[in-house]
Amino acid sequence: MTRFKKAAVVAVGSEMLGPLRQDTNSLWLAARLEEIGTSIVRKAVVGDDAAAIGAELAVASASADIVFVTGGLGPTADDLTVAAIAGWLGLALERNAAFVAEMRRKFESRGLRMAPNNEKQADFIEGSRVLSNPRGTAPGFWIERGGKEYVVLPGVPSEMKEIMTERVLPDLSRRAGGVVSRRRVLRIAGMGESAVEEIVAPLYEKWKDDPVTILASPGEVQLHLRVAGEPEAAAGRLAAMEADFRAVLGASIYGADDEDLPAAVGRLLREKGQTLALAESCTGGMVASLLTDVPGSSDYFLGGVVSYGNAAKRELLRVAQETLALHGAVSLEVAGEMALGARERFAAGVAAAVTGIAGPDGGSPEKPVGTVCFAVSGPGGLETAKRRVFPGDRAIVRRAASLFCLHLVRRQLLAEAPAVEVRA
Ligand code: ATP
Repeated sequence: MTRFKKAAVVAVGSEMLGPLRQDTNSLWLAARLEEIGTSIVRKAVVGDDAAAIGAELAVASASADIVFVTGGLGPTADDLTVAAIAGWLGLALERNAAFVAEMRRKFESRGLRMAPNNEKQADFIEGSRVLSNPRGTAPGFWIERGGKEYVVLPGVPSEMKEIMTERVLPDLSRRAGGVVSRRRVLRIAGMGESAVEEIVAPLYEKWKDDPVTILASPGEVQLHLRVAGEPEAAAGRLAAMEADFRAVLGASIYGADDEDLPAAVGRLLREKGQTLALAESCTGGMVASLLTDVPGSSDYFLGGVVSYGNAAKRELLRVAQETLALHGAVSLEVAGEMALGARERFAAGVAAAVTGIAGPDGGSPEKPVGTVCFAVSGPGGLETAKRRVFPGDRAIVRRAASLFCLHLVRRQLLAEAPAVEVRA
């Protein structure tokens, strides 16, 4: 029996070549196929054009064992996927009279007359396995030709998913001989992508047969570890791989899989029986918003002050006018007073403050756009004060700063040595 390892996806639909619609079918297919140890090695979006479909099938089938084609199975003139595939494979289309009658019966049962163009959906590809479509009209097809397989599916995501789940994946999974794929995501904050890469690079040689992907986003780096094999062997291999990566990254890993930083900080606050308050300037409440996205956050998050203007910093957080005048609103000194003020105001165990220049205006040579100052205060007073310059536009700076603030809270909770940088 063939063991599929490589798949390709062709998403057909001119609408996905424009700015308004995206091909999401291939993402879902990639996730499901990965679970049975199959990788997508190529994917493409092509318009409703027979020549383009044929050209893509040629490339896709050259690089993969199985090609999934979605979209363009409907009754309208631009739905020409079935004819294009049959033409390219040199197979005939056979109109299925029983299917035409069934379609007509369904229309009539809803009091509708079936338009003649619907009959096109009863054109079955010669020698194919027909994949019935309980949620829609157009069936899918599974064809074997020239040592390759082609699975043709409707474009409507719910229809595509149902046919895959009910009729395609069980067969593929059985043929894969129980091979499964397992993924572990290790999540890291407070470090850049290249710093993470430098630390883990020596492990690549040891795990060269298993794909490791580094994904960076503002404020976070994710390491995706993937293994394929028999379920037990795969689980063991993944655990060994994870242990190696944890050994070099240590506490920089704040969480795994679906646990994001706000959830990880929340877990830690709960474990330590601590409470948190915030004083936010340039993030405008984003840190509070991230924290309160987590259900149950009222157990540890007491509240925050969005002290955007200087008056709010003075009046709500008791930041001294002299500190503002001497150091400016974006300074370690002001961040420190904000954190102390928030801790006192909310009677919190820990308080964190953020003040910065998100841009696009307001930068200076000493404090360029992206400069953000942070402070964390705890029972011992001011524990941490840090300044960072984040690259990127306003949205990226604000997001990265929000996550960095949570990262500092986490470090504080892990009781690492105080790291006070006294001068900005
Ligand atoms: P049906 O005949 O059952 O309507 P179809 O194969 O003709 O299915 P299309 O007409 O190509 O489907 O697309 C129907 C809908 O599905 C459209 O809204 C389209 O944007 C969406 N769609 C098509 N392909 C994809 C895709 N790859 N990812 C996400 N949505 C898609």
